[in-house]
Amino acid sequence: MQIAPTIAELRESLGEARHAGKSIGLVPTMGALHEGHLSLVRLAKKQCDLVVVSVFVNPTQFGPTEDLSKYPRTFERDQEMLTSENVEIIFAPSTEEMYPPGASTYVEVEGLSERLDGKSRPGHFRGVATIVSKLFNIVQPDKAFFGQKDAAQVAVIRKMVRDLDLSIAVMVGEILRETDGLAMSSRNVYLSPDERKQALVLSQALQQAKDEYSRGERTAQTLRNTMRAVFTVQPSAEVDYIEVVDWQTLLPVEKAAPGTLLAVAAKIGSTRLIDNIVLPAAQ
Ligand code: AMP
Repeated sequence: MQIAPTIAELRESLGEARHAGKSIGLVPTMGALHEGHLSLVRLAKKQCDLVVVSVFVNPTQFGPTEDLSKYPRTFERDQEMLTSENVEIIFAPSTEEMYPPGASTYVEVEGLSERLDGKSRPGHFRGVATIVSKLFNIVQPDKAFFGQKDAAQVAVIRKMVRDLDLSIAVMVGEILRETDGLAMSSRNVYLSPDERKQALVLSQALQQAKDEYSRGERTAQTLRNTMRAVFTVQPSAEVDYIEVVDWQTLLPVEKAAPGTLLAVAAKIGSTRLIDNIVLPAAQ
C-alpha cells in the first residue's frame, strides 16, 4: 500500500495505473475509520481495479464553532485498517497541500446546500462540494463511493456531478450500525456512556416512523410527529431537525413514498449526530 502525501505523488501513481487500463475507485473520508468506512472500501474493491482512500479532515466544511480541532485523528490505526483491506493507495495530504495560501475558489450547489444539515451548518456543503470537486479532479476516479449515512451530502454531490457534467459514477453504500441500531460515526467516540444510551433515540425515532409507514401511514406530518414523540421521551437530546423529504431535492414532501428520506439530527450533550432511513418499496 502506498501513502501519497502530495498531489504530485498521487498523480504519478494514478497515471501509471490508468495507462495500464485499470479502473479507479475513490473513497473520500476524514479518517478515524470504522466499519462504515470499511464497507465503502469493500464495495469499491469489488467494483474497481485500484482503490484510493483519501484521509483528510477538511477545514472548509467546519463552522467556526465546530469540532475541527478536536475531530478524532487516528492515522496509524486507519493505515492498519486499510492495509488489511488491501487498499492500493491512501491519499493523506496536509491542509496546505489542499488549500495553499491564497486559495479562494469554492464550489456551491445552490438550494440544496441550504437544506437539512446545510441549514444549521451554514457553509458546510460549500466546503464539502469544494473538497470533493478537488478530490475528483486530483484522482479522476471512474467511481466515487459515499455513505447514505450522510444522505444530504449524497444529494449535494449527485447534483454537483449532474450540474458540472462530471463523468464520475457516484455509488452509495448502506448505513452500517452498531448492534443496538446506533449509526456508526467517527463522532460516536465523543459520547459518554450515558450519552451513548441517549443517542439511540435517533435510530429509534426513524425505526418507529418506518414501522408506521409499513403499516400504511403516508402522511409526512404524521410520520414527523411520530419521530418527534420519540425524541420527547429523551429530553436531553436537543433536536436540530426531523424531516421527511425528497432525497433528490431535500424539500419536504406531503406524502411519503418509496425512496422518501426520513432524516434526523440532534445534539446529544455537545455531540451533533445525524441518521436517516430511505423508505423501502412496498413488500
Ligand atoms: P467521514 O469520514 O465521516 O467524512 O465519512 C466518510 C464516508 O463514510 C462518507 O461517505 C460517509 O457517508 C461514510 N460513512 C460514515 N459513516 C458511515 C456508516 N455508519 N455507514 C456507512 N458509511 C458511512
